Amino acid sequence: MTEASQTACRPFDSGATETGAGEQELTCIQRRLLSEPGNRDALGRAGTLLYEMGRFEEAIAHLERAVSLCQCPLCRTDSRDEDAHHAGKSHPEADNAHYQIFTQLADCYAALNDYQNSENYYHTAVTLLSDRADAYLGLGTLAMRRRQFDRARAFFQTAGDFHPDCSEAYGGLAMVHQHRKEYDKAFDMYLKCLELDTDNLVALLGLFQTSCEMGNFSQIIHYLEIYLKGHPSDTSVLFCLASLYAKEGRFADATEAVAKVLVLEPNKPEAAELLAELKDAEA
Ligand SMILES: [Zn+2]
Repeated sequence: MTEASQTACRPFDSGATETGAGEQELTCIQRRLLSEPGNRDALGRAGTLLYEMGRFEEAIAHLERAVSLCQCPLCRTDSRDEDAHHAGKSHPEADNAHYQIFTQLADCYAALNDYQNSENYYHTAVTLLSDRADAYLGLGTLAMRRRQFDRARAFFQTAGDFHPDCSEAYGGLAMVHQHRKEYDKAFDMYLKCLELDTDNLVALLGLFQTSCEMGNFSQIIHYLEIYLKGHPSDTSVLFCLASLYAKEGRFADATEAVAKVLVLEPNKPEAAELLAELKDAEA
């Protein structure tokens, strides 16, 4: 298996949301923007929908247009550097909508590998609402991608300090530890992440890799079983579980799991191979 994917904007993004409803709303808003091109709320909402659909360039165009139409000091790029970077200064415009726009812009640029613009927007978001987790998680992920592990750890730690129930903060810390081959610490952090969010496939994958390094599979089996209750037809996870049962000598469980994989995905050669091995083991 490869290392946990870092291509998502945030460490544990679940990816695109249900697009059907989003597409419809977007069409509506874009129609409205034809007659009201300067409608800031509509631009912001369209940008958010495009962002959720993974259409990052278009999202940036809409969100930056919304920012350019705002007269507040944070949104005026000419004054942003002087005004916004004084931590502790109170901003009357420090609201959710602004925070969301800046973090989404930062996420978009991160997804396009434009680290500098991404970092600038995250920092603006942090100066706006310094106790929110999102921008710290984004900064942590950026630092990871630049292989600045100390910085990454500090950002994830800050997110976790403000929000002890933030599963992504633990997931991020786990990834830092995993990169440093501190497998026992990575293992604990992945577990914490999964305790808060049992549905997190990236953390499951990380826990799996860490378990393989440590040769300890009992915990990962438990979490894979929980995950599969919610996603019974996820054949990659099911196959993973079958291999682990086999490793632990639980051949009946392994056979049952791998048989399920083959029902769902008859042309999976590694599953057929494992089933054959299990039959040999039983014989
Ligand atoms: Zn503004």
